[in-house]
Amino acid sequence: MFEWVKRQLEKIASPTLDWVQIEVTTYCNGACIYCPHTIMMKSWANIHMPIELFYELIPFLTYTDLIYLQGWGEPLLNKDFFEMIRICKDHGKHVGFTTNGMLLTENVIRKLVGLQLDIIGISLAGTTPGTHNRIRKGTDLNEVISHLEQLCKIKAEKNSQVPSVHFAYLMLKSNFHELKGILPLAKRVEAKQIVASNLSLIVDPKLSAEAIFNDTVHTHYYRTTLDELTDRAGRENIVFDYHGPSLDDASLVCRENVLRACVINVEGEVVPCVLTNPVLSSHYIFKDRSLPLRGMSFGNIRNESLTRIWNKNEYARFRDLFDPETARRPEQIRSEMPQCCVKCYKRLGV
Ligand code: SF4
Ligand code: SF4
Repeated sequence: MFEWVKRQLEKIASPTLDWVQIEVTTYCNGACIYCPHTIMMKSWANIHMPIELFYELIPFLTYTDLIYLQGWGEPLLNKDFFEMIRICKDHGKHVGFTTNGMLLTENVIRKLVGLQLDIIGISLAGTTPGTHNRIRKGTDLNEVISHLEQLCKIKAEKNSQVPSVHFAYLMLKSNFHELKGILPLAKRVEAKQIVASNLSLIVDPKLSAEAIFNDTVHTHYYRTTLDELTDRAGRENIVFDYHGPSLDDASLVCRENVLRACVINVEGEVVPCVLTNPVLSSHYIFKDRSLPLRGMSFGNIRNESLTRIWNKNEYARFRDLFDPETARRPEQIRSEMPQCCVKCYKRLGV
């Protein structure tokens, strides 16, 4: 009886979220030059989420329609990854993940199509092998594209509309000019969506000059190019979305959907965004200053239910800081924000 009452109370208090992001591994077969995984390699904790921990998440799948299996690593390296997708699909969820594309063998693609995975995000940092492979070390653009062409063939053979291919293009000063090649590439592999994002977490000071939002001389060029691409993509029925390209210091809106989504890291910690994931404990660069990067967990699903964690006063207070309906003045909000959010490029719109 007590258990039944507890379950009913949980149901009443449970949130409705746009998505839940679950980090299934921190291992990676890539060595992208800008990624904390590469830069912090010596101290990096390589961990797979055990399937037993994933089972503990099952009651919380009801909170959302979309589960995104992604964190700081390559999801396909977790040996239980297909089982994780299967569990989510069996519960009627839409499921997606982002990959560097190198492990998409025919066998893997057939499994993903068979499981009716909904979204496969492909990370790019150039549209020619020379540029992409230089930045996303350990990956090869020609190989990735050939895997995606195979995905198209297998989807056609199985008469399947999914997984839908999305491109995630990291814009840098040294690869921005290649963004113009993204539409032909998208059409070639039937990608439906492109998101052009920024280097919003800078761990290596040498990379500050690569962030396009630091290149204020060319902001107009970046913006007009991105707007033109948005128009051209629209005419091809491809969604093109971009972040930035300049900083808005007055912004109080976080680029991450902290009000209606959360991240569960590889060890079960519930955090508001990928940048507050405790696996990142190190330093980062914000406006030429090196600052500590600390995790901000509101609880661990090994010890407490996600409902309880979501409804904690401190988590509710944190979300309230980003709520556009909040009645407080901007200076007051900023004074109450954790330092990691005050000094975060994602809060400044990139
Ligand atoms: S593939 Fe992803 S996780 Fe791996 S090094 Fe590159 S950016 Fe980092
Ligand atoms: S402002 Fe930055 S650190 Fe704070 S929740 Fe948003 S992305 Fe995370």
